[in-house]
Amino acid sequence: MDTTVMFAKEMDNQDNMRTFKEEFYLPENQLYMDGNSLGLMSKRSEATLENLLSSWREKGIDGWTEGKDPWFTYSEKLSERVATVVGANSNEVMVTGSITVNIHQMLSTLFHPTAERSVIVVDELNFPSDIYAVESHLKLRGLDPAVSLRKVKSDDGYTLTLAAIEEMLTEDVAILMLPSVLYRSGQLLDVEKITEMAHSKGILVGFDLAHSIGAVPHQLHNQKVDFAIWCHYKYMNSGPGGSGGLYIHERHHDELPGLAGWFGSDKTKQFDMSHDFSKASGAGAYQIGTPNLFSVAPLTGSVELFEEAGMGNVRAKSLALTQYLRDLIQAEVGRFSFVDVTPVDDEARGGHIALAHPEAARICKALKQANVVPDFRSPDIIRLAPISFYSSFEDVWEMVQRLKLIMAEETYKTFSNERNVVA
Ligand SMILES: *Cc1c(COP(=O)(O)O)cnc(C)c1O
Repeated sequence: MDTTVMFAKEMDNQDNMRTFKEEFYLPENQLYMDGNSLGLMSKRSEATLENLLSSWREKGIDGWTEGKDPWFTYSEKLSERVATVVGANSNEVMVTGSITVNIHQMLSTLFHPTAERSVIVVDELNFPSDIYAVESHLKLRGLDPAVSLRKVKSDDGYTLTLAAIEEMLTEDVAILMLPSVLYRSGQLLDVEKITEMAHSKGILVGFDLAHSIGAVPHQLHNQKVDFAIWCHYKYMNSGPGGSGGLYIHERHHDELPGLAGWFGSDKTKQFDMSHDFSKASGAGAYQIGTPNLFSVAPLTGSVELFEEAGMGNVRAKSLALTQYLRDLIQAEVGRFSFVDVTPVDDEARGGHIALAHPEAARICKALKQANVVPDFRSPDIIRLAPISFYSSFEDVWEMVQRLKLIMAEETYKTFSNERNVVA
């Protein structure tokens, strides 16, 4: 792409999503490139959280059953709308839990190890929490992770190949669980092909959509993915600690929840207070206890924005922004030994660009001082995520100019090259 500021302005003029910026609170004078870790707050989310507060203020316990959005069915109704964001049927998605808890729930429910098949395959680049969850789950089942957990190897330390994944799909594997987008490099995996590959060998497939939901459109149902888990505080902008989500294909809806609780009940029977569990018919069955409604409510406002913008537009703008960003990096700071480790093809790229650099930790600190919010991942990755809803092409241009100044004047050298506690 043309890397001039004129081009950026032209792109912004043509941008059919440009008005969404006004829907968000953007920290003053800041270029926020960290929406892949924590999305910014929108006025809609603020309003839907405020609605929940007023219903509590005004109705007390009657808020469970009265008002415009009764709490008893709040998560169920919202889940139907989230289902369209991930290409699932309305009964296949539940807003609940967190990624890590939902991994435990899905494995408890769908992992039925036998003498022949007891292995779970993950990848060696995955986020630690996913690995901790699988390891501890295997131990609970009396299985030894040294035997029953296998990791797909990466050739380059940043990406996974289909061949490397396929090689792991042996006859003793029960479940394959991978990220849709790798959190460091931003590689987008071919969900459809991987699912086909695994199913042809009798293996169930789950994806962690942490870095794709809200950035990349999905077709979970049609692609026959068995289960998925995700959070809503990254690209979905639901706020810190916002409740997560899970998807389970309808062909598995007969499965009893491995971790059962009363909010997994058929809602018409829940208050019978019977000790015999009557499970809900869809993904709602895999909820456990009372929903954390204050962590759910902001998502209603976010989902409205996704419905208005359309996932196709969100993705198209995101791809253009990340392409423009990487072309600018190449043109403006290419000589400062940044290595762009995000795959080149649109089909293989999520919503951020990852740059490897030996001085990454302190370059991020210098960027922060220059009012740019990047994201650092130990030991040497700078992640930059321009967000379709609130980043403009000119923001991307301006950010790279600030980076160029930091590199040319070596201001990053005034900081120590170590990560902060939360990085
Ligand atoms: C963000 C993220 C998590 C965080 O898990 P929580 O349970 O929501 O804290 C887990 N896995 C991946 C891949 C992530 O990107």
